[in-house]
Amino acid sequence: MKHAKPSRRDRIRSQLADLKMPGALEALDGVLSQVDGAQIGAAEAIEALLGAQITLRNNRRLQAAMRSSRLPAVKTLDDFDFSFQPSIKRDQVQSLHDLGFLERRENVIFLGPPGVGKTHLAISLAIAAAQNGRRVYYGTLADLITSLEEAQASGKLGHRLKTLTYPALLVVDEIGYLPITRNGAMLFFQLMTRRYETASTVLTSNKSFEEWGEVFGDDVMAAALIDRLLHHCHIVNIRGNSYRMRSHADLWQALNPTAQAKERSPRSRKKKEASMPDG
Ligand code: ADP
Ligand code: MG
Repeated sequence: MKHAKPSRRDRIRSQLADLKMPGALEALDGVLSQVDGAQIGAAEAIEALLGAQITLRNNRRLQAAMRSSRLPAVKTLDDFDFSFQPSIKRDQVQSLHDLGFLERRENVIFLGPPGVGKTHLAISLAIAAAQNGRRVYYGTLADLITSLEEAQASGKLGHRLKTLTYPALLVVDEIGYLPITRNGAMLFFQLMTRRYETASTVLTSNKSFEEWGEVFGDDVMAAALIDRLLHHCHIVNIRGNSYRMRSHADLWQALNPTAQAKERSPRSRKKKEASMPDG
């Protein structure tokens, strides 16, 4: 009887090794000693072993994604302080992290002034998707356009468009910070047309949609782009102060008097809300 336990333990060990489950293998001794101490039951033990394996797999996926996706940092929903940004609907952002939008090939747009967490939340969605085994890619609008222009110059535009259409989730960060050329805008428009209803794009912008004509240097193209993006889209409109400047609230207001005034203007608010679906 004395030998039965270690040999079963050994058999489980070799089964886990055979199944290539190093996370569960590593957790095995701890879990079994909890079982021996009657701290947990059989079902909990199974759950703990599988959970350990899933955690390891998700971390590996994340590491691989961090290498291939060009994500600039690890930002997660757990690190996000919702109490600092009360204009964000917490339920909406949390349910986006369940990734149903990816299955439905819907888009997500984070709008708001600098420092309010647009990039943070876009990255945390990408990380959730990567942990879920989906292919993700990150670029600022300027980066993506540069790479498309380079591909165009070397006669490889088709290939580059294909590569950027492939990921289940593409983050297009910082729409509106840097001016873009007309050719650049056209290339980006082509990319978004390819991704439309094929794969999800998560975008961030410090400019309202009314200003996108200026950003892309062409009102008609911007309108066509917005039309496609918004067809299946979740808009997260963040009105608040910069988290970077959180210990300098007075300074922030002094630096951004126009942003504050604009937010308060009933006209711009009405327009924004009119373009906002419930999801
Ligand atoms: P934006 O893209 O809107 O300019 P970021 O997402 O880059 O802003 O946020 C600026 C910095 O502040 C980042 O380091 C981000 O992780 C952090 N940050 C922003 N908002 C929050 C928040 N509500 N809770 C925790 N960290 C935040
Ligand atoms: Mg940003």
